[in-house]
Amino acid sequence: MNTTQRKLIIAIDGHSSCGKSTMAKDLAKKINYTYIDSGAMYRVITLFAMRHNLIKDDKLDESKLAHLIDGINITFSYNDELERHETFMNGELVEDEIRSLDVSNNVSLIATIKFVREKMVALQRKLSEAGAVIMDGRDIGTVVFPNADLKIFMTADVEVRAARRFKELKEKGDDVSLDAIRENVQKRDFIDENRDESPLQKADDAIVLNNSYLTKEEQLEWIVTKMAEIQ
Ligand code: C5P
Repeated sequence: MNTTQRKLIIAIDGHSSCGKSTMAKDLAKKINYTYIDSGAMYRVITLFAMRHNLIKDDKLDESKLAHLIDGINITFSYNDELERHETFMNGELVEDEIRSLDVSNNVSLIATIKFVREKMVALQRKLSEAGAVIMDGRDIGTVVFPNADLKIFMTADVEVRAARRFKELKEKGDDVSLDAIRENVQKRDFIDENRDESPLQKADDAIVLNNSYLTKEEQLEWIVTKMAEIQ
């Protein structure tokens, strides 16, 4: 039986902006699996909270968000023309907005909230019911799918990560500085690793990949080899 027939669950966790989603998307395309971006879900909740003025001075109005959260519908679809995965909030295309530095600066705060995490984890499991899924995030191998067939923990040098993100946002036309991005990446890692609810940590059975000096093609080859090993 080969891996595509077995409908595996592949969990990719790791630090911010280290290329998890790039590797996950490339692999999903190559083996015809469903890619699920769990970070996009936290980003949607953040955008919603920002639009409703629920975040002031790094503080969230938790009770208002708790009241409104069931009205937030998060969906994904693949845009064939643009060849990209797109995220929708109550039917509105928010793919670019959720990647802005403003949202990035608030998302880790939102991701510390227990009821937000419970709702997101339930959605992540529901979307994965059919199997053959590759999901990236911070708690996929530890909390969402502790029995995942393959768990990868990714990291990369912080300077390399900041430079990659800077290039990406600049290409989109965002007015950002490398310093602001480096600060955001480090701050998010700190909050993600030190929160009480589902902190970012390597699952005991995860394989570590440091991709600081790997190309996109090399990291894809690396994970394809790992998949072959568990067949
Ligand atoms: O993956 P991405 O960088 O888009 O995730 C944005 C933020 O969402 C992370 O910095 C983290 O705070 C949060 N997150 C999380 N758990 C996940 C995925 C993302 O806490 N499974």
